Amino acid sequence: MINRLSAIKATLPEGVALCAVSKYHPEEQLQEAYDAGQRIFGESHVQELVRKEAALPKDIEWHFIGHLQTNKVKYIVPFVSLIHSADSVRLITEIDRQGVKCQRRVPVLLQLHMAQEETKYGFTIDECRDFLVSGKWQELQGVELRGIMTMATNCDDEELWRREFREARRFFEEVKHCFSGGTPILSMGMSHDYTIAIAEGSNMVRIGTAIFGER
Ligand SMILES: *Cc1c(COP(=O)(O)O)cnc(C)c1O
Repeated sequence: MINRLSAIKATLPEGVALCAVSKYHPEEQLQEAYDAGQRIFGESHVQELVRKEAALPKDIEWHFIGHLQTNKVKYIVPFVSLIHSADSVRLITEIDRQGVKCQRRVPVLLQLHMAQEETKYGFTIDECRDFLVSGKWQELQGVELRGIMTMATNCDDEELWRREFREARRFFEEVKHCFSGGTPILSMGMSHDYTIAIAEGSNMVRIGTAIFGER
């Protein structure tokens, strides 16, 4: 596992951050990756994240990458470093409310829905643009908008992934002046498509299987 982790890290260009997606993998595996220097871990279930956060070193940056239910926001807001999957205005409103309660601005990415599948969560580009143009996000005290996240359609058509990543990148460039808190983040690319995502401008990849093996 450590060999796979270092091999992937060695191929990432400078400026591309690695979120090691550790969902369903036991604490021991995360600790091993931590001991090898990995600090950013991505989880997609609230209960599992809360359990791991309590058990593992305090300087880990925990990223939440899965669909987040509004009633569970409060459990992760006190410690989460980045929520990749803000997929509705309603969810953002709740993250804001909980962030204010904890006296913190929670770093958040807006999840774009590029994929063809009906079931995927996220804003379409038009919905996301409307939200940003409305300027309502400027009133948020408990949320800091840091960038965009997207997933390509789940299929094996590399050219489709490329087109979707390219479209997300174009939109990211259009709206990135809205983001604050450092270099704007474009989170795209998983085990099977991260090299394409990076070629299309991703600066944060979320890699699970290629590091930790099958779940
Ligand atoms: C599980 C997951 C990943 C990692 O997928 P792998 O194929 O294991 O690399 C990345 N992003 C999201 C949103 C995920 O849910």
